[in-house]
Amino acid sequence: MDYYSRRISRLIEELSSLPGIGSKSAQRLAFHILNMPLEHVENLSSAILEARKTVKYCKQCFTLTDEELCPICGNGNRNHKMIMVVEDTRDLAAYEKTNKYEGVYHVLHGAISPMLGIGPNDIRLRELMQRLQGDVDEVIIATNSSLEGETTAMYISKLIKPTGIKVSRIASGVPVGGDLEYIDEMTLLRALEGRVEL
Ligand code: ZN
Repeated sequence: MDYYSRRISRLIEELSSLPGIGSKSAQRLAFHILNMPLEHVENLSSAILEARKTVKYCKQCFTLTDEELCPICGNGNRNHKMIMVVEDTRDLAAYEKTNKYEGVYHVLHGAISPMLGIGPNDIRLRELMQRLQGDVDEVIIATNSSLEGETTAMYISKLIKPTGIKVSRIASGVPVGGDLEYIDEMTLLRALEGRVEL
């Protein structure tokens, strides 16, 4: 890309390292940014920097948050005895959008995948088991319906069964391999209400 000057090339290079951004999109974004009012660009870059520097894991459910406890774990009106296990923070957001779930969450940050070499110790499973030593009535497993999600669900239910805590799995109806994030709220709600005990 030596037909662009060094600083423009660098901006394009950085942008094209983002997921889903090919070199054409990176060039389009770069020139868009260069035409933006300076104040706008400063807001954008400080939003990125501040989020990256301050966002961490909630010490209870491990979702991403900029405080010690996320707003859900810190909410006394939620049912803290009901824990829904999801693969990532975007799945949590999908369930929150339904406005119908009153329990709390546990975010695994991934799913077990022997193919990719991701084992039980690579996701936040130990932390979930630690939480279950507290006062918990039910664990709802809401991992994706992909092979990895199902493998994870089975593994977790086997771990929890001996504790006597009720374990359930969201109903199928969530398309196979479907990312929870892209499923509409009604489907999620039906999956939640039709959950089956494992
Ligand atoms: Zn939390």
